[in-house]
Amino acid sequence: GDTLARLGGDEFAILVNDVAETVHVTHVAERVHELLKEVFVVHGQEIYTSASVGIALSSRDYERPEEVIRDADLAMYRAKTSGSATYEVFDSAMHESAMALHRLETDLRRAVDRNEFVVHYQPIVSLESGRILGFEALLRWQHPQWGLVSPDYFIDVAEDTGLIVPIGWWVLRESCRQTKLWQELFPTDPALSISVNISGKLTVQPEMAAMMRTVLEETQLAPTSLKLEVTESAMLSHAGDCLTALRDLQAMGVQLHVDDFGTGYSSLSYLQRFAYDSLKIDRSFVSSIDAQREDSAIVKAIIALGRSLGMKVIAEGVETAAQLKTLQSMQCPEAQGFWFSKPLDHAAIGELLQNQGALRH
Ligand code: C2E
Ligand code: MG
Ligand code: MG
Repeated sequence: GDTLARLGGDEFAILVNDVAETVHVTHVAERVHELLKEVFVVHGQEIYTSASVGIALSSRDYERPEEVIRDADLAMYRAKTSGSATYEVFDSAMHESAMALHRLETDLRRAVDRNEFVVHYQPIVSLESGRILGFEALLRWQHPQWGLVSPDYFIDVAEDTGLIVPIGWWVLRESCRQTKLWQELFPTDPALSISVNISGKLTVQPEMAAMMRTVLEETQLAPTSLKLEVTESAMLSHAGDCLTALRDLQAMGVQLHVDDFGTGYSSLSYLQRFAYDSLKIDRSFVSSIDAQREDSAIVKAIIALGRSLGMKVIAEGVETAAQLKTLQSMQCPEAQGFWFSKPLDHAAIGELLQNQGALRH
């Protein structure tokens, strides 16, 4: 006796009247799931399918039917992310988080137009000499109300909306420009380098290699001073598409680093195939190096792996003297972390470079 409609594509709606209690509707959802468990035979082929169900109750103050469908839709997406053949009932927390996400998206778009971003730099240090070898460029958002916002808060949204592409190019250009300036003011041998985090979305841009070359030419930074940090998962999902472009860049002297190594899903054979120049040991292994024997075994193994594959190893997130000592005893060549320095704005890094000896190590 209920109304069934096809809204379009693979989306359907069921209108259930006279609902006294929520269980009456969830029961309908369960019946839909039950029925869809059965096999469909189409032209002799057996087809299995399932549905994600979102439920909105008219008990809320709705004024227009579109609002009901919007909320059912939101709940349906929530159901979808929690696995197939599930249902979710819309609630106000869902509304709040959808609104917050929407606000974040709008703000982020505006931030791109107004260029509200800044780059902070964290020193990467030689564990042998204690000298600063270069920096990792880390994005920050100077939000007009919230102040300085960390990328953890907005990078996923930037990825999902594609805004990471213009933002990513900006970070690359800005940090190359800044590094060239430091190289001139503080000449070292080899010259100070810059490590830039590169989203998978950037690597699949058709003109990626050519655009990077342009950035390097315009900023006058030597390709050998640039290191691109990619995560294992970004490489896995875009593997084939970007390999040639990355090879082109490597041929110019740009280096390729695996970020957060040990936390992704890549197999060892990928390490060879992608021919990375360095592995960055994820902070999670470094932080418990002293407390947990397994973690220090993993760190040791990554260092040995790097050495035998001819890749340099950089330890991330060094926070204590004890961690540093352990890493040195394992002959880890390079590290970064709060122990040496937090990420700092360009002015503070300039001061740091004025007195190189100031970093403890
Ligand atoms: P990541 O590339 O692994 O960067 C290292 C993160 O560890 C940074 O966080 C840094 O501040 C933090 N860190 C460094 N040393 C320590 C330490 O000793 N202890 C602790 N607890 N943390 C430490 P941040 O700046 O919040 O960046 C988070 C992530 O956001 C980065 O992880 C990177 O994946 C992403 N990200 C940052 N900037 C960019 C960017 O320009 N583009 C893209 N695509 N992603 C970026
Ligand atoms: Mg990184
Ligand atoms: Mg990392």
